[in-house]
Parts: sequence; C-alpha cells; structure tokens
Amino acid sequence: MSLPLVTAPFTGTTPAAPFLRFSTLWIQITGTWCNLECRHCINSSGPREPWLRPLRAEVALSAIREAEELGVKEIYFTGGEPFLHGDILTLLAAALEAAPTTVLTNGTRIDAAMADELAALAASAPYSLSIRVSLDDTDPERNDRVRGENAFAQAVEAIRLLHDRGLLPIVTATEITSAEHADGRSTYERFRDFLLARGIEKPRVKIMPVFTLGRLARPGDPVLCEEDLAGFDRRTLQCAESRVVADGGVYACPILAGLPGARLSDGGLEASFRAAALYHPSCVTCFRTGMTCANG
Ligand code: SF4
Repeated sequence: MSLPLVTAPFTGTTPAAPFLRFSTLWIQITGTWCNLECRHCINSSGPREPWLRPLRAEVALSAIREAEELGVKEIYFTGGEPFLHGDILTLLAAALEAAPTTVLTNGTRIDAAMADELAALAASAPYSLSIRVSLDDTDPERNDRVRGENAFAQAVEAIRLLHDRGLLPIVTATEITSAEHADGRSTYERFRDFLLARGIEKPRVKIMPVFTLGRLARPGDPVLCEEDLAGFDRRTLQCAESRVVADGGVYACPILAGLPGARLSDGGLEASFRAAALYHPSCVTCFRTGMTCANG
C-alpha cells in the first residue's frame, strides 16, 4: 500500500505546534473510500481500494465517548464520502448526544429518504446537525471537470432536499476554478448569489484554499522552518485544538489524517494531546492562509 501524498523529511529541527486545548474531534469515517474521484482531493480518495481504510463503528463510538468526557466542542465526520458508511446514521446520533456535529459530503448519497432521516435526527438531537455539501463551481461544466460527471446536479439536488427540510446546508467550495472567472466577484460572492437565486434565503458558504497534496501533490514543495514562524502565534493553527481519529490511530489534523508523520497516538485521544510536527508542505498553506477545516 503506498501513500499518494507528499511526505517531507521529518527531522529534529522540524517546528511544532503546541497543543492548546481540545475543541474539535474529526472522524475520518470512510478513510479514503469515495464514489467520486475529485481532481484536487487532499487525500486522493476514490472508489478503488482505499489507502486509508474506513473506521469500524465501534472505534468511532469509542472516540465519541472519550471526546465527550474530554469536553469536545464540535464533532466532524469526513472521508472519503461519509454517507457510504453503513453505520453513519447511528454514529451521527451518538455524536449529536455529545456535541454539535457536522458531516462533510459530496451530496451524491443524499436522496429524499436520507434527507428525511437527517431532518429527524436533527429535530430530536440535543445539539445541532450541519451538513456541508461540496461544490467547486457554480457552473456545472466547470464543477464536473473537477468533481466528475453529474456531481454538480446531484450536489445541488442534495442542497435543495436539505434546505426544504430546514437543515441550512453549508456549501463548501475549494478555490480551484476561481481564476477562470473574470466577473470581479469573489468565490464567496458567486456562491452566495447562486444559492440566493435558488431560493436558499440564508446562504452558508465555506471557502477552502487549494492544498498541494493528494492528487495535487508537488514533490519538492517547501516546508516550514523555525525562522518562517518567528513572531507567529502557532496556537492559531487548527492542530493546536483539533484531533482526528482515522484508521491506525489519532492524527494532528484532518488534512494529514493517515500520514505517519502526523500520527500522535495509536488510538486514545488523550494520549494525542501533545505538540504536532509542522513537517508537511500543507502546514505552509495553513500558516499563510490561516485556514481551518472547521465550519467557522
Ligand atoms: S496541515 Fe495545518 S493543521 Fe495540519 S499539522 Fe500542518 S499546520 Fe497543523
């Protein structure tokens, strides 16, 4: 099994981010198993044999229970495509007993029946449920060039189904085709206007930068050194407050889930509460853009 990702040399001089507090649990529930194969996918997910295996339900449940005891503030499910996991609704119900919960999805598995299930879960849960649906362009042809044939239509339909049930979906867009637009509007403005035009009265849009890893990995990309970080508050990086449970253990952040250099414990969350190595070229993107994978 090979990891289709750039892993830079990890040396004794690699800078680190301190662990500040535990706010966010990510669950890489389907590993890199997905029904799409997007051009910019940060972990090269796809329908073929996943290099990072899906999590067993009992591992995810155990992480949710431990996270609740440790005072988690938010829980996220990601993959791969989380709705391919046979236990996703059971796991969502458990997570919603512990904290506000979000699922990151490509939307292709959300039909009317699934949207009904999600609305029922949200209505009965003590915490809020958010569904983030990925779209990379408001133009179907441009979107499907990145995400695959018919991905646009299915995602837009999922957004409609969720909205009709009061679930206020968050559209997540990666700035991969932004340079192709010359209308002067930002990516955010384009998506906001797109959703408003489809009757989504309270549009929610999350913009993500392009990361040069996974299918966009560029061998030889620079990594951070101590000098780069002089005067920078490393506690602002998401790895200072988040941990990811994925196959093989607990990792520093959702971007690097499954990579040996980001692995901080072999299973227990609390054991992972220590400094995270900023060893990967993606850490440069976090440092430069201040991005977080969370909703905010
Ligand atoms: S990719 Fe970003 S969040 Fe992950 S370890 Fe590097 S700096 Fe931290």
